[in-house]
Amino acid sequence: MKCTKYESLFIFRDESELQEHIKNCPDCKAEHEKMQKVSELLGEVRPYFMQEKKNHAKVKLACAMLAMFLCTAALGVINFNTDISDTIRFGTPLSAEDLGLPVDSYGLLLVE
Ligand SMILES: [Zn+2]
Repeated sequence: MKCTKYESLFIFRDESELQEHIKNCPDCKAEHEKMQKVSELLGEVRPYFMQEKKNHAKVKLACAMLAMFLCTAALGVINFNTDISDTIRFGTPLSAEDLGLPVDSYGLLLVE
């Protein structure tokens, strides 16, 4: 019969009691070694995955922010800088004369 005390010792008793039992019980010793390996493995693997996950989230956030920033900047420049939107639509920035307003010889808006 295989010893089944390991789990209850591991969960309900303290470490020294567990160690004491392991010394005299090959079944539980084997079980304990298996557990040690698993927890070592988890300890090694977990931080690596956590880091990976964090990095991916950061990269995604950075991309989203950059895209948002570029869109806002591009739309902002076109909407609020009429020279650029005129250049896009008409090929050159429109002067006051082009808009049909009265201008003086310098191309400045004539105010009477
Ligand atoms: Zn045992």
